[in-house]
Amino acid sequence: MAIDSGSISWDFLQKKVDLLFKGEFSSFSNLKIENTTIEDMVQRGWYIDLEESTPFLGEIRSGRRILLRDDLKGYERDLTFFHELVHAYSLEYFGNILMDVGKNIPLETKQAHFYLVEYFARLHRADPLLLRTAISRFGLKPFVYDRISLLAFPELCSTPNEQVLFPFCSPLWKRGILMRDS
Ligand SMILES: [Zn+2]
Repeated sequence: MAIDSGSISWDFLQKKVDLLFKGEFSSFSNLKIENTTIEDMVQRGWYIDLEESTPFLGEIRSGRRILLRDDLKGYERDLTFFHELVHAYSLEYFGNILMDVGKNIPLETKQAHFYLVEYFARLHRADPLLLRTAISRFGLKPFVYDRISLLAFPELCSTPNEQVLFPFCSPLWKRGILMRDS
């Protein structure tokens, strides 16, 4: 599940996670989602379902199903997607879904899990190539809302129906900086 994490700074998260890596969560320090992992997860049957009414922004369900609320957009959608992807990844490859909700889990454990998942969600979302691969392979609509998402989807700046008009889009495009083969 993704809760509102907007108030948690990256600095704060990093410090929390550094401490967790020194303790019982040391094995999670190498939780690195690669482009090939995304492909592997899709091959293993992980998929996204967009849902209108779900109490959470995102959720993992049985059958390798990832639920995302269908009205999420931009950074919120992408961060929620990566948050759920980290839960899914942990479950698939570490055998631990890192539950951050639930009545029977001690608060301290839930918080530790949340910090870990959110840390890796933000870290991975900030990799333009991984963002592109994950959004494309899971069949989600791409959004451009910051420099990272622009690097991930430069072609969105060149269409007649530009989704987001960044003032720096056109000059960059003309100078060929945003050209990439994909
Ligand atoms: Zn969660």
